[in-house]
Amino acid sequence: MIRNTYAGKSELHRRLDTERSYNIPAIVYLDADVTPEQKTLLEQNLPLIYQELGIPYEFVQFSDSSAAQMISSSLPTRDNGGHLQYGVHSMTLFMNGEDQTTKPHHALVFTNKDIFMDRTNFIIGGAWSDMGTIISLTRLSQIKDKVERDQTLLTEIAHEIGHVYDLPSGRRGQDKLDHHFGGGHCNNPGCCMKQGTDIPKDFIDLTRDRIKRLGHDHYYCADCKGDLKAKFTQTAGS
Ligand SMILES: [Zn+2]
Ligand SMILES: [Zn+2]
Repeated sequence: MIRNTYAGKSELHRRLDTERSYNIPAIVYLDADVTPEQKTLLEQNLPLIYQELGIPYEFVQFSDSSAAQMISSSLPTRDNGGHLQYGVHSMTLFMNGEDQTTKPHHALVFTNKDIFMDRTNFIIGGAWSDMGTIISLTRLSQIKDKVERDQTLLTEIAHEIGHVYDLPSGRRGQDKLDHHFGGGHCNNPGCCMKQGTDIPKDFIDLTRDRIKRLGHDHYYCADCKGDLKAKFTQTAGS
C-alpha cells in the first residue's frame, strides 16, 4: 500500500525534497506516439531498473491517461528546420496539475516527440530531482540493431530515472563526481549515470561499456547504488 504522505502528514503542497525517501508513486505516462515495442521494453525492464535502484516496484504505476495532452498543453514549441520540437526547460509539465498536490508523485513521461532545453539543439531526456523526467525515445530508436537499440534506450532511461532520485549525489565525495555540463554526473566507467553529448554515439559506447563491465540488466555503479542506499537508510520511515 502506498501512502501519499510525507513525514507522517498529508502533503498539501508539492515541494521538492531531494532527500525524500522513495515513498511516493512513480507514475509512467506514455505519449500516444509510444509504440507497442517501446511499451513492452518499458514493462519488461523498468522492474529491473527499480530493483537496481533498491526501490520496490510497487511504487511504479502505468497511468491510464496518455501524456499527449500534458505535453501539448504545457510545453512551448519551436520549428527546427522543418520539424517541430517541444521545449522542456520549464518544469510546468510536472508542477502544474492539481494531482501533484493531491497525489504527489514522480512523473516518468515517455514520448517520441523531439525535445529541447535552453540553448540545446535537442536533448534525449530531461530530469528534475524529486519531480520527474521526460524522455524522448525517438532519436535512440533510430539505432538499427534491435539489441543495441533496446540496450541503449535502457541506458538512457536508467540515467534519467537515476536523476529523479537525485543520482549521483555528493555522498561519495565531490571529487568522485563529474561536474561538467552543468549538472552532477558519475565518473565511473560503465555506469549509466555518466554523461554523453554526442548522440547516439556516446550512449552506444557507454552502453557497450556498461554491459561489458556490469553485465546485462545492470545499470548503476557501486557508488551510485551506495548513494541511494545511504539516502534511503537515512530517510527510512519518513
Ligand atoms: Zn544526466
Ligand atoms: Zn555511477
